[in-house]
Amino acid sequence: MKIIRAEKYGFCAGVRIADKKVKKFVAEGGSDGQVLGQVVHNERVVQEMEDMGVPTVEALGDARSGTIVFSAHGVPPSFHDRARSQGLQILDTTCPFVYDIHEEADTAVEQGAHLVFIGALDHREVVGYTHDRDPATYHVLSTLEAAEKVDWALYESVMILYQTTLNAEDYNDVASFIESRCAGARRADTICYATKENQDAARALGNNPEIDVILVIGGKSSANTRHLWEICRELKTSYLIQGVLDILPEWLAGVSVVGVTAGASTPDYVIDEVENRIIEICGVDPSTVERIRPGERKPAGHRLAAH
Ligand code: SF4
Repeated sequence: MKIIRAEKYGFCAGVRIADKKVKKFVAEGGSDGQVLGQVVHNERVVQEMEDMGVPTVEALGDARSGTIVFSAHGVPPSFHDRARSQGLQILDTTCPFVYDIHEEADTAVEQGAHLVFIGALDHREVVGYTHDRDPATYHVLSTLEAAEKVDWALYESVMILYQTTLNAEDYNDVASFIESRCAGARRADTICYATKENQDAARALGNNPEIDVILVIGGKSSANTRHLWEICRELKTSYLIQGVLDILPEWLAGVSVVGVTAGASTPDYVIDEVENRIIEICGVDPSTVERIRPGERKPAGHRLAAH
């Protein structure tokens, strides 16, 4: 039996850094910490944080005194002042790529552009970009139908920005439509390298003729994990799971090569557990299983290295 991991999978550099910052805070005796929203979209990681004494609060107003952790998704800039005015310390784990988009949006607005965020209106990353802005200065959309309802000719200049974890190809029609209706429209490639690498590697896994079935691991609210699954299932029988409890033995009946990939918020130990469970279900001697792990995520991209 063989278990082949994708070339790139799992925790991205941004999430690794966020995770490390919170663990360092606790290790250095930090107490009375709380995270605003899930630190990453993974229930196991959230539970791990709670067990370390850093629970999740849903709103800034729910935070007690102490330290508030801003997650890798980032927050609206005004939240920094609000937190300070509540007497809170801030542990900011916002991913530098997310900060880049905040900056890119600010610069575009200074240059007179109308903003278009391609993404989900209620995704925390997108809320971070939009919350403090005048709603007349931006649109958030993700479908061609939504784009068609806007009179883009009203705008001289439009800057199109993507939520970091999307698959850019899925939204090419939306961006192209806006560009076709507004001469001053341009787009910035804000899809994060980790997302793209994981997606390319998932595609390669799907195209690997040796593999019988693919398990895609990630939190149920993780958009980037769902995208990986969508890529895989178009190419091969693929199942989306949060962890070992979701694996149905019948998926592995008669299977000899299993592909494994995971979203950017899935910790390594969950992936290890899944691999061990696959071996257990298949009833093979673990020492005979060939575990192929082609690549480890490099610690940092150039922008991350600068932070
Ligand atoms: S997926 Fe990309 S943008 Fe999101 S936290 Fe990871 S490195 Fe940052």
